[in-house]
Amino acid sequence: MTNQPAVFANTVLAWFDQHGRKHLPWAQGINAYRVWVSEIMLQQTQVATVIPYFERFMARFPTVQALAEAPIDDVLHLWTGLGYYARARNLHKAAKQVVNEFNGEFPRTVQSLEQLCGVGRSTAGAIASIAFGEQAAILDGNVKRVLARYHGVEGWPGQTAVANALWALAEAATPATRNGDYTQAMMDLGATLCTRAKPSCESCPLLGGCVAHATGRVAQLPGKKPRKTLPEKSVQLLMLRDANGRLLLEQRPPTGIWGGLWSFPELAPDQSAGAHAKRHYGEVAQVAKLEPWRHTFSHYHLHIHPVLIELGAIAPAIADQPVRWIKPHAPGNLGLAAPVSRLLAELAELEPLC
Ligand code: SF4
Repeated sequence: MTNQPAVFANTVLAWFDQHGRKHLPWAQGINAYRVWVSEIMLQQTQVATVIPYFERFMARFPTVQALAEAPIDDVLHLWTGLGYYARARNLHKAAKQVVNEFNGEFPRTVQSLEQLCGVGRSTAGAIASIAFGEQAAILDGNVKRVLARYHGVEGWPGQTAVANALWALAEAATPATRNGDYTQAMMDLGATLCTRAKPSCESCPLLGGCVAHATGRVAQLPGKKPRKTLPEKSVQLLMLRDANGRLLLEQRPPTGIWGGLWSFPELAPDQSAGAHAKRHYGEVAQVAKLEPWRHTFSHYHLHIHPVLIELGAIAPAIADQPVRWIKPHAPGNLGLAAPVSRLLAELAELEPLC
């Protein structure tokens, strides 16, 4: 097969005529409203899960006007269990936009459709092509996979350059006629044949021209999201225990990690915990380093080095600071940083050091 866009589109359309999923509920009585609701429901969600939700939604809100007039609680109620609730809120807002800003009629162009809340370029393309037959491209997850494999496009589609290359290929392949069928066909082909884990290449109409298949790179394409190497940081957490067995907690600043929560005082990893405690908290009877561990945040790894410091006296009063002295078994009604909960539980198991 040649890589000519027209040949590509015709091949996909011929396959769709025989094997397309024309039985799906949103493929019946097609209009912009039904296409839009189905496209939003299908984001991050399997077809089989969506079908009953779609049918209940259409029975309760058969038109965009009915959706716009409904209380948001009714919309969220019908969404319960489908997840990603921002989608339902956006649907409701966009229905009001259609009614108030577009006289109750869905706009036909990608550019106008993109003004609706929660509608991105690909969803706008799907509505424009399937509902209105406009020559509009889509690039959802299924289509990205088919195009990346068929054309051998390297790289992760989340990168702008890769996405732009795939959009260009999607635009080039989009036919002037039967555009809605072509859009549906690409989604179906990606969902049923060119699947993520086990593509059925031997049944695929695109096999003859597929670069990934010819070069043995089906499993490698599309490229995976690069794994970020997170920076590493270290800190000592000072578990200061007074002669009554109470531990000192400080409230953290409202912003930053563990903002507003209660935690042990921190010290840089190259500082002497004993000397620091002596300087700030009085007599120190014993210092014991506990087992360190790594705590991972979204943007860095933190190596936590807990140090248990037995103070030689009843805790001195520390003025002008949001601090509490607590028993490890009974920290009270405080919001605790995750490592603090862990350390308190561990400490409750330990014998006092003196
Ligand atoms: S031949 Fe295989 S990898 Fe290529 S488009 Fe078809 S199913 Fe996908």
